[in-house]
Amino acid sequence: MNIILFGPPGAGKGTQAKFLVTKLKGYQISTGDMLRDEIQKNSDIGKKIIDDMNEGKFVSDVIVNNLIKNVIFDNQKKGKLIFDGYPRSLSQAENLDLLLKNSNQKIDFIFFLNVNKDTIIKRIEKRKIIEKRLDDELDTILKRYDTYMETTKPVLEFYSKKPNFYEIDGALEIDQITNKIGAFLRV
Ligand code: AMP
Repeated sequence: MNIILFGPPGAGKGTQAKFLVTKLKGYQISTGDMLRDEIQKNSDIGKKIIDDMNEGKFVSDVIVNNLIKNVIFDNQKKGKLIFDGYPRSLSQAENLDLLLKNSNQKIDFIFFLNVNKDTIIKRIEKRKIIEKRLDDELDTILKRYDTYMETTKPVLEFYSKKPNFYEIDGALEIDQITNKIGAFLRV
């Protein structure tokens, strides 16, 4: 089963992805983690993206799409992909469709975790203390939210027309969201 978790930063995509990884023996595909890894390794990609990421801007589609390609064609992961934070732009969504088609796969469920700005701010302020991410400072959070609203809106329109799109109130407690997702998946 391939699943997309979709929603603004702080919506709980990473938390729910971890639940699905355990439940479905799947693989969490977090482009945020993949990009942070590149920065940690100080790779050529890492050097290119560090400023954008720390400022809460989106990394270019070309870089992100390239990172995703290998994952989709990885035989071990096929049919067990839990996307967390990808796709985030229309070009990424179209790229994903194409890669899935070329690898004989499809998306089975799209879950949109819908959360308002105030809840996001509160959650990320808490996460900042635990994870110490540089892009979790308040002005960066606001920037990330605005970027999400601008760039991701067309993606929402793209997916919301699909029959396997489900909107979930992301302001619910973690367990409640997990249960809702579980009920849709029948797991
Ligand atoms: P996340 O861990 O998903 O909150 O992502 C952290 C940051 O990584 C974002 O604010 C972007 O700078 C970058 N990023 C992660 N995923 C993507 C993506 N699909 N497209 C562009 N930038 C991304």
